[in-house]
Amino acid sequence: MSEKRFVYADHAATTPVSQEVLEAMMPCFTEVWGNPSSQHSKGAEAKNLLEKARASVARSLACSPKEIFFTSCGSESDNWAIRGALKKANGRKHIITTKIEHHAVLHACASLEREGYRVTYLDVDGEGFVHPETLRAAIDDDTALVAVMMANNEIGTIQPIRELAEIAHEKGALMFTDAVQAVGSIPVYPEELGVDLLSLSGHKLHAPKGIGALYIRRGVSIGNLIDGGGQERRRRGGTENVAYAVGLARALEIAVERLPDMERVARLRDRLIDGLLEIPASRLNGSRMNRLPGNCNVGFECIEGESTLMLLDMAGICASTGSACSSDSLEPSHVLLSIGVPHEKAHGSIRFSLSHDNTEDDVNYILQTISPIVERLRAMSPIWDSQKNRAVDSANM
Ligand code: PLP
Repeated sequence: MSEKRFVYADHAATTPVSQEVLEAMMPCFTEVWGNPSSQHSKGAEAKNLLEKARASVARSLACSPKEIFFTSCGSESDNWAIRGALKKANGRKHIITTKIEHHAVLHACASLEREGYRVTYLDVDGEGFVHPETLRAAIDDDTALVAVMMANNEIGTIQPIRELAEIAHEKGALMFTDAVQAVGSIPVYPEELGVDLLSLSGHKLHAPKGIGALYIRRGVSIGNLIDGGGQERRRRGGTENVAYAVGLARALEIAVERLPDMERVARLRDRLIDGLLEIPASRLNGSRMNRLPGNCNVGFECIEGESTLMLLDMAGICASTGSACSSDSLEPSHVLLSIGVPHEKAHGSIRFSLSHDNTEDDVNYILQTISPIVERLRAMSPIWDSQKNRAVDSANM
């Protein structure tokens, strides 16, 4: 066994704030700390930085600054997109989403259902893809909004958003995509995707936690989620977090510049996947081809993901069993269940999410470390047959 290292492989949960982002933000705490709504020079200074940040985010997404609204996080952006769209839906009462969305979307939809809206949760296939024909069969003249995430946070599957948006528009519905995991990892241009609404979050791309944005296509009218002062062109009340908006803008600029390096990250991911699949009775969750460059989600039969995580952590490796927001619950992941992974096997899945910060040595270390951990845990399992290297009775597993 090689020397203990520290390997952070949980970038889908969150990322550290980069030095460049921190440097861009610092003057907002020490010098340019005014309220952007104030009518004096201190306020004007802050307003100027805020608008520069907005323009920069818009450049990174190839859209207009008028289409960018800062929020407090991805969850707020998701809730705003969904609730806001329904407030201006001209009496339409139907929402279409998928079974594998983040809880920010699923719980917002569930709460709207309790308020009398109709929600259809689309099935996905065994790799997590939404098929356009599934949407076509579900959509009708009452559909106000189609909400399909661009890339899944657990299994990394990237959806055919452009095609789905065309179907939504044919029926006069709005198209929203939660791009929280996609932005910074793959090219994301809302206009090219043909979406009306798109959410993103800073802490997934080396900006701080507590800043997000919502893209609202020009001409699209949605209601407010937070009423208050005249901030964000009267669309989102609350004194703007200028420092974090500046941080988000800088982080996004860097992420876009570094997109070509994602090919290297994808090669690391592929080596990791190949290495993990050499472990007996393992399976890849999600698509081999069309997945986020940093995402690797592999299930191991006859072990508990939580025990594996604990032993990985003791060896200095940070990974996850699912999304950070739901991994404190013992319920198996709704995403894995939706792609057809049986209940017991869903428990044995581990997500590694890589970024630019990861290296070949990190992947080697994960591979060297995890095999003996899996072996050790299986040796304690009454349903693992170590002679045959498989579950005692696979048919009942
Ligand atoms: N949507 C997706 C796909 C996510 O992965 C996350 C966070 O994990 C969110 C929304 C929520 O973002 P935030 O943590 O900024 O609220």
